[in-house]
Amino acid sequence: MAKVTVWNEYRHERENESAKEIYPDGIHAKLADVLSDYGHDVQTATLDEPDHGLTEEVLDETEVLVWWGHLAHDEVEDEIVSRVKQRVLDGMGFVPLHSSHESKPFKALMGTSGTLRWRETGEKERLWFVEPGHPIADGLDEHVEVPEAEMYGEPFGVPEPDRLVFTSWFEGGEVFRSGCCYHRGTGKIFYFRPGHETFPVYHQSKIQQVIHNAVEWAKPVDTPPSRAETEFIGEPLEPFE
Ligand code: ZN
Repeated sequence: MAKVTVWNEYRHERENESAKEIYPDGIHAKLADVLSDYGHDVQTATLDEPDHGLTEEVLDETEVLVWWGHLAHDEVEDEIVSRVKQRVLDGMGFVPLHSSHESKPFKALMGTSGTLRWRETGEKERLWFVEPGHPIADGLDEHVEVPEAEMYGEPFGVPEPDRLVFTSWFEGGEVFRSGCCYHRGTGKIFYFRPGHETFPVYHQSKIQQVIHNAVEWAKPVDTPPSRAETEFIGEPLEPFE
């Protein structure tokens, strides 16, 4: 189990009737309930709070940060983006969901555009596990279906993932790398594609299971502090003559 903070920009669910109907208290509240039911210690944070809810104190209590943003990526202050990025380099897990492919922290950690092809028609998506035995696929069958999804297609502007756990197929014919693992510094990142504010994707138990598995995978492991982000003089192990 992990200490999790679920961050949400929380705009669609206050402004759009169908989003409000599916997520009456916000996507963050739904995800927090789901992860609490799995036994995690969960808090939430939203864009309009001071420091977007991500103070140093909150991050001190965060082992994994789950992120959902879409309309307001540009409103996230660069200072908070740097703070999140540094925490990931120092070992905090980061799980950006769906439209967070273009969020500032994800782009800062990837160094790429995060752009993709998209279409919002409510078509079927089938996610295939392409890394059998990966912990993020624990407890699941060989594929997961989302009956109504927003399509995301390639090309996806991200670096080659360290591990690709899912590839999605869409009814309209496209494919997409929809579950991507990365390591940055000592932190682990899992980008997971499913979501969208007007489809009840986070009400699906198998999608919930993947997010739980991702939190378990991304949480920091108990190892001695890393010096990967520190510059220091290397003393030779063998004396020079
Ligand atoms: Zn969407």
